[in-house]
Amino acid sequence: MIDYPIKGCQYIGKEQDPRKGPVTYCGAQTITGKAYCGDHYWVVYKKGTAIAGRKKEKEIDREIEDLKKQQEIDEMESY
Ligand SMILES: [Zn+2]
Repeated sequence: MIDYPIKGCQYIGKEQDPRKGPVTYCGAQTITGKAYCGDHYWVVYKKGTAIAGRKKEKEIDREIEDLKKQQEIDEMESY
């Protein structure tokens, strides 16, 4: 059994940077055996169901897609 040092969801808002100072964790009830709550587990691993609803899912999906595209562009430019 893995013992996480922090109780509750360990998701850190994307605006927060642990390198710049203390961050605030989500702290919500986690999925059994996971470090994240239902919503953020989905955000982090992009699987499972989002309780918050489909609209939020789509928004996150779009953000992830945008990030992926940006990453691909960055990778292409570095070659
Ligand atoms: Zn959370």
